[in-house]
Amino acid sequence: MNLHEYQAKEIFARYGIAVPQGSLATSPEQARAVAKSLGGERFVVKAQVHAGGRGKVGGVKLVTGVDAVEDAAKGMIGQRLVTKQTGAEGLPINSVWVERPSNIARELYVSALVDRTEEKIVFMASAEGGMDIEEVAEHSPEKIKSIHVHPAAGLQPFQARQLGFFMGLDKDQVAQFTQALLGVYRIVNELDASQVEINPLIVTAEGQIMALDAKLNFDANALYRQKAIAEMRDPSQEDEREREASKYDLNYVTLEGTIGCMVNGAGLAMATMDIVKLHGGQPANFLDVGGGTTAEKVTEAFKLITKSEDVKAIFINIFGGIVRCDLIAEGIIQACRQTGLKLPVVARLQGTNMEKGREMLESSGLKITPVSDLTEAAKTVVALANG
Ligand code: GDP
Ligand code: MN
Repeated sequence: MNLHEYQAKEIFARYGIAVPQGSLATSPEQARAVAKSLGGERFVVKAQVHAGGRGKVGGVKLVTGVDAVEDAAKGMIGQRLVTKQTGAEGLPINSVWVERPSNIARELYVSALVDRTEEKIVFMASAEGGMDIEEVAEHSPEKIKSIHVHPAAGLQPFQARQLGFFMGLDKDQVAQFTQALLGVYRIVNELDASQVEINPLIVTAEGQIMALDAKLNFDANALYRQKAIAEMRDPSQEDEREREASKYDLNYVTLEGTIGCMVNGAGLAMATMDIVKLHGGQPANFLDVGGGTTAEKVTEAFKLITKSEDVKAIFINIFGGIVRCDLIAEGIIQACRQTGLKLPVVARLQGTNMEKGREMLESSGLKITPVSDLTEAAKTVVALANG
């Protein structure tokens, strides 16, 4: 689960990581009032969405005067922001964060996350912070230094100092940086954060270390014991279809292709997407309808898949182990009738009662092509999706 920058900055402040002074506004008038109470002439207005890359698309504005703050907020609130990290639809801007501008001398990068291979928390730092860390990682990985934390010992100050000196900080700055990093480590441990990213972490002209941006991600499996974090969730920033899917206990992830996939079992769902790609198609989603699928679940899954206008064909790939193929067929037929489905469907049913299931599909009079061979099924659905 993600948080907004403003929520992450509030947490940072509590854990001893310096952040610029600011406040949240949900209307242009409120943004003006916030600026007035902050005082001074110049302000930064930042769109609050669950995505980075805002700076490059007008989601971060440096302005002079409270009128300009109100105007900037007016231009953001109620709009959708499309950044490199959001996908084409973008995310709704419901609020802006107004803060005092910082005098930036240097922009650094620092993050902490769980390295699953090493089974440790890893910290990464680079002197090349700012907006293009992905480029740095790709073209000059030597400019990023990683250190792993031993779970029994915890983050040691000397490790933080190593990262600080690597980024060319002076002695006083390294001391501040070490404090900040120990705070990050406590956030990971005490709040079950799975990722903390500060990009940029700045050195101000006055030599102060500060988090100018803040990204926090939490382990969803730990939210039951992190009530305060769970309450900060903002459903408006989540994918509508994924939210809908979770209501029906469907494992669904939106993707950008044209072939809707309905599969039981996560492994088979992955293999299905692979084979679709192998034959030149692009899956529109990952969907695992689970083992104990019911006709109702199949119907809901169909509704989700067909909500996207990009979907041109549907691929049903079910292995009837626990669930019977005739029940699945019944669900498919019911779903097609209820949703008035116009799209071509390729259905591959294998396992218990598969003959009966196939017969039902064939005699339903619907536009469903039953195919039993997986490769043939994939080729057929790709051809149908490409028109
Ligand atoms: P992101 O693009 O979504 O990651 O948003 P950031 O919060 O990282 O801001 C993007 C960029 O805006 C930063 O890298 C800074 O260069 C610039 N920026 C943000 N706040 C300030 C500020 O207070 N003063 C100045 N001069 N630049 C800022
Ligand atoms: Mn940033």
